[in-house]
Amino acid sequence: MIVYLHDIPYSVGNRLAANKKNIDTVFSVEKCLKNNRNVLLTADDGYKSVKNLLPLLEKYNVKLIFFITTGFLDKSVYPYEVELSNFLERNSALSYEGKSLLLEDVSVKEEFFGMVHKQLKYLSLRERNNHIDSFFLENGGGREEYVENIFVTWQDLRELAKHPLVEIGSHCVSHVFLPSQDLSTIIFELKESKARIEHELGKKVTKLSYPYGGSNFKVKVLAKALGYKETYATNDKKYNFMDKGRVSLSKNVPRKLRE
Ligand SMILES: [Zn+2]
Repeated sequence: MIVYLHDIPYSVGNRLAANKKNIDTVFSVEKCLKNNRNVLLTADDGYKSVKNLLPLLEKYNVKLIFFITTGFLDKSVYPYEVELSNFLERNSALSYEGKSLLLEDVSVKEEFFGMVHKQLKYLSLRERNNHIDSFFLENGGGREEYVENIFVTWQDLRELAKHPLVEIGSHCVSHVFLPSQDLSTIIFELKESKARIEHELGKKVTKLSYPYGGSNFKVKVLAKALGYKETYATNDKKYNFMDKGRVSLSKNVPRKLRE
């Protein structure tokens, strides 16, 4: 079984201070490893907190593929999801496309986030940036300074890559939904991220995780032509071509077990 996750925002040592959602994530990984044999863990995006998994990998002798979005590490691409959720944590009143909204509780904020996310998911990087720029302009401020240290550095990654249970893969450059991009963007995303990681690590990169799990025949053919040997979806039914299906950590561990 191949399990995927994103970040574990707080170290195990600090988890009492962490909020409940994050505590769930940490506990979920251990529960999942305790309850299942033959697990391969994968973590997307490049969050620094994933380093906290190392003791669990060693304890359960489980492998991790860490899929890196190179633009996040190079600070050339802004992870708008993080920025937007930070904004929603701090604010309840906001303006969106000319309408004033009052988002008083967490579930309404989550709903709003989901709606924006759906709107931006299929856009190009430039369109997505324009949209987020105007959101922040409309709400009286510029974009945040680059989100502080939530991603590993290249130095961190070089060290992680030496760990016998860790392999580094690509999660593209800009975290865009590949099937809706033009051909040259798809090629750039696949090729540049692979080359960038290989350059930093001095190792071949042969595994790819599609941002948002998005792929189609064109993307798959290009990935293969550009040297990827295995690709990872966010759907456990996609066992075709080079695709490996994955199940999300939260789906794998029933809520009551995580509490
Ligand atoms: Zn991702």
